[in-house]
Order: sequence, then structure tokens, then C-alpha cells
Amino acid sequence: MKVVKFGGSSLASAEQFAKVGKIIRADEQRKYVVPSAPGKRNAKDTKVTDMLYGCYAAAEAGENFKEKLAAIKARYDEIIKGLSLSLSLDDEFKKIAENFKKKAGKDYAASRGEYLNGIIMANFLGYEFVDAAEVIKFDMEGNFDAERTNELLTARLEGVERAVVPGFYGSYEDGRVKTFSRGGSDITGSIVAKAVKAEVYENWTDVSGFLIADPRIIDNPKGIETITYRELRELAYMGASVLHEDAIFPVRNEGIPINIKNTNAPEDNGTWIVESTCQKSKYVITGIAGKKGFCSVNVDKAMMNSEVGYGRRVLQAFEENGISFEHVPSGIDTMTVFVHQDEFMHKEQKVVSALHRLAKPDYIDIESDLALIAVVGRGMKSTRGTAGRIFSALAHANVNVKMIDQGSSELNIIIGVANEDFETAITAIYDIFVVTRI
Ligand code: ASP
Repeated sequence: MKVVKFGGSSLASAEQFAKVGKIIRADEQRKYVVPSAPGKRNAKDTKVTDMLYGCYAAAEAGENFKEKLAAIKARYDEIIKGLSLSLSLDDEFKKIAENFKKKAGKDYAASRGEYLNGIIMANFLGYEFVDAAEVIKFDMEGNFDAERTNELLTARLEGVERAVVPGFYGSYEDGRVKTFSRGGSDITGSIVAKAVKAEVYENWTDVSGFLIADPRIIDNPKGIETITYRELRELAYMGASVLHEDAIFPVRNEGIPINIKNTNAPEDNGTWIVESTCQKSKYVITGIAGKKGFCSVNVDKAMMNSEVGYGRRVLQAFEENGISFEHVPSGIDTMTVFVHQDEFMHKEQKVVSALHRLAKPDYIDIESDLALIAVVGRGMKSTRGTAGRIFSALAHANVNVKMIDQGSSELNIIIGVANEDFETAITAIYDIFVVTRI
């Protein structure tokens, strides 16, 4: 059987709900449904989740929030009416208003978006509604409790032929609602897929899967047909965002593939995310992603290669200041630490003095406004000349490469360039592997 999760834009209006109904009914196997809250109907619209945050902020400040809540109710009523359902959310909204007055919390407020959409979805499909607060659990530190959740969810769904479980939230042991981070319905879908041992976890959104490169940089980039979990981790970490980063963990060890599908073009294959595959990607590389806004801190010291503990002392200077590092390429007498500029900037001089105290380097050189680009592909391992092609493409495009880091997994090559060269570099790499394929 399949677990199907629908994102906010897939459920933003009655019209979208109707498409979703058609998709679910087209396949008997689509037995467990995880909805998001209604998202944007157009570019200028506001997501219901954001409306709820806004409304609750007013309630918390002791302001009158009636109108804001009425606007939220109107979104749901429009869907109910458009689908001609005989369902009223009046009592639910009364309860929500009371709880807002009692300051039930921001997470409770935000979770109502999925909760109410779940009630509508269950009514629309004739499926059983299962409140996520009953079955998705967090420990008192706020960490997701995978084991307890799996126990509860498996038991609850046993014998339930078809169900709707709203995304994005769960609860602490004491019953208080807690949400995942934004976009967290993706995680719920994955958790449900694991609990019911689904054959596939379909994640329906408004794009036909992952693209090889960011469409804001490359005009109409090609899609990715199949990607492994590990490749996805690399790309997601570098900013490719179609799926919540944490959504892969529950299904990953169960061998359940994720299929990203487009609600507005259901016939498209979308992207398959799998553990491993013998399917070769068409283009040697699977995807390119990157981020701007890094600093490099070069810490030079003659003979550092023979000084035991040097690397640890350098990194300690960052750790002491609560800064995590991204990459640490090194040479014989130099070690470079890449950090996020916004995190590093205001602690810069503290780190420099800690470096002097701990590592006693000859000198320190800081460079800012750098971008990192990850070229990811399981095919690189068995293809000669990938790195050569990347660097000749960059040289032809007049891009100066500041850093190169190829992980031993041979799954990716990470390149550091100046922020201002970021788009040119991505275009050059895309062109050489996908457009001209030379
Ligand atoms: N509705 C929540 C959000 O806007 C969760 C989700 O859509 O996955 O982030």
C-alpha cells in the first residue's frame, strides 16, 4: 500500500482538493493520507499556517484576534462549500478561540492548520481521521521520539483500512501539542509510511520532482528521475529544497522509496528517492546545488603537518565560540575552515584570539563573501575526467576556483568560488554536463 502526503499548495482550495481526491481514488493502494494545511492559492496569498501564527501572536499580546481567526475560518469554509460537504467547523473554531485565549501555545496554534484540513480530507474521502497528537510523540526535551511513535502509530492503524493523519505536529507525553519545523508534514508522511510498512511514500507537491539545478539560475532545467538518499542529503544540505531534510530518516532504513509527484501533472513520473539503484543517471552528475555567504579562515603554521593535535586546537577555537564548520580543506602548512558568514561575523575577533591562544599559528587570513557549490552524482565514481570537466568549464567561464573538496565517497565535489561568480559557475557546470555533454 501507499502513503500519500499532499503539500499546502495541493490543498489550497476546493479545486485543488478535487484534484487530490481524483489522484487518491485513481489508485486503491493510496490508503493513508497525510495533508498539510492549505497553502498559497497564488503568489500573493498567505499560507494558513502563517495566518495562524499571526492570529496567535495577536491573542498572546492580548489583542482582539476575532477578525484574524474569521479570515482563517473563511479559508476552510470556502473549501467545504466548494466540495459540497456537509460539515461544519463551527465547534472546532469555538474551541480554538478558547484555547487561544488560554494561551495554548504557538505550536498548538500552528498545528490547527493541518488538524482542520485533516478533518475536511477525512470527510471528503470517507476515511477515518486519526489525530496526530495521539500517535506522534516528542520527549520532554522536544526531540521526536521515533520508537514510541512507531509503537503507537502501528497499533492505532492496525485494522484501520484507510485513514487521514494530519501532518506537521504531534504531542509531548503530557499531551501538549508540538510541531516539527516548517515543512514538517513531509516528516509525518515518512513516519506513517514506516509504521504501516508502505511499499512507497508518495510526496505530492507542485513540482514534478527535483531538478538538476535551481530554476532561478538555469532556465528550465532538466528533472532528476532517480536519486539516492545519500545524494539527496548532499543536495538538500546545499539548499535544494523540495522535501524537508529530516523526512528521509524514518523510511531510509526501511527500504521504502519516496516518490515526489506533482498534483498538477499527476502523469509525470516525478523523482524517485531510493536507497540504492543500478539505474544510471543520464548525465554523470545527478544535481548541482550551492549556497552563498561563507567565510574561509586560513590558519597557517610552518610544520603544522607534524604537530600532533593542531587540527583539534584550531577547531576548538570555533567550538568555544559555538560556531560549526562546513569544510576543512588543508595543506602542508595551512588549514582552512569554512564557516557561515552570518554566524561568524560578529564573533570573528573572538575566534581569532582563541586561535592564537590555542594553536599559535604564524598568521591568520580571513576571506569573506564566498559561495560553495556541490556537484553531486553517484555516477562520478565510475566516470573518468569528471573533475577535469568541471574545472575546465569553470576556467572557460572565467571563474576563479578558491577551494576544492572531493569527499572520499566520490559522491560529490565541492567547489568554493566568490559569491559574485556563483551563478556563472553553476551555469557553466550545468552546460558542460547536461546541455553540451562534452
Ligand atoms: N504547514 C506547515 C508549514 O507551512 C507544515 C507543512 O506544510 O509541511 O510549514
